[in-house]
Amino acid sequence: MLDWFAANARDLPWRRTRDPYAIWVSEIMLQQTQVKTVIPFWNRWLRGLPTIEAAANASSSKIHKLWEGLGYYTRVRNLQKAAQQIVAQQTSRRRRGDESQTENKSETPHVVSYKFPENFDDVLALPGIGRYTAGAICSIAFNQPTPILDGNVIRVLTRIFGIAENSKEKETNKLLWQIAEELVSHAKTQRRKGKISKNFARFAPLREENSCSHLNQSLMELGALICTPKNPRCGICPVQRHCVAFKEDRIEDLPNLGKRKPATARRFIAFAIESSGRFLVKQRPDGIVNAHLWEFPNVEINGAKSVAKDVFKSQFGFAPKSISPLCTVKHSITRYRITLEAFAVSLKKPPVKADGVWKTPAQMRRLAFTAAHKKLASFAANRILSGR
Ligand code: SF4
Repeated sequence: MLDWFAANARDLPWRRTRDPYAIWVSEIMLQQTQVKTVIPFWNRWLRGLPTIEAAANASSSKIHKLWEGLGYYTRVRNLQKAAQQIVAQQTSRRRRGDESQTENKSETPHVVSYKFPENFDDVLALPGIGRYTAGAICSIAFNQPTPILDGNVIRVLTRIFGIAENSKEKETNKLLWQIAEELVSHAKTQRRKGKISKNFARFAPLREENSCSHLNQSLMELGALICTPKNPRCGICPVQRHCVAFKEDRIEDLPNLGKRKPATARRFIAFAIESSGRFLVKQRPDGIVNAHLWEFPNVEINGAKSVAKDVFKSQFGFAPKSISPLCTVKHSITRYRITLEAFAVSLKKPPVKADGVWKTPAQMRRLAFTAAHKKLASFAANRILSGR
């Protein structure tokens, strides 16, 4: 696996650094999100907030704007909470140090910079970091033999070892963690022997010292490039001769993920209400999904097909003179298949009682919207521009 990784690893921007902060950001962004989607977000984040301290001190609107479009926004709020925790802990430790230095009359100056913790338990204790992410950060940034187990790695390990039991069951999950731990611990004593690719040479100058990091990354990479959920490329797989699923022709059956909950359809009606070139928008409150992000007024419709005009009246207490379809946006969040039907309403006077604020299209562009409402915002702005 180490040899295969050295010859085949992709040149990803977070592989060119050993900065644990940058690696941490990449790991959080990669949760539930594909590599090619993450790359521009990661570059933008690191340009805007290059240090732990910058992330800790950034405004809520800035972190949400940088994350806008990535989804699962609890991730970014936890990331900032964790950065604030690191800064607070190290500041208080320094203060204590300064006090004792003053007592000793020492005048040694210190540079204020904040370090990402290296100890696995300290990393695991940070908000938004579970066992997988802590393992990934400690192995990739610090070359510690800490195991990782996510969907990709579960697929690879259950196939190689022919594990037919449901990987979500406690005992099987425990077994998979044990295997992952044995592999990465064993890697610590291994040395790569084969050829290295140009990519690898570029991002791994200390390659001989990074076998734990590279073993874990090779498992992720094999799952992403070769041992894919459908049509795995067994013909070019580096571990084919060890693979039980390949030998026993059980690839289709593994991994056993148990029964999936069926997808649920949900339908929303939203209104782009315009008055004097401004739109009514509001910020989602704390404690709910997509908290702090902006959206147009909307309501979930259950059961019978509803007429947009009636829905508008039930929300605002009056029926608008005209209401016209603006766009329909379909998207998925976890197991929900969501359809958002948006309607345009133009009012001479804004309603006296309206929950939200009125913003021009230019002002809306500076706010962080949920992905579906961002599309709606651009349809609404285009409609104004085209004078319809
Ligand atoms: Fe996956 Fe096929 Fe390789 Fe086995 S031989 S690990 S099934 S790609």
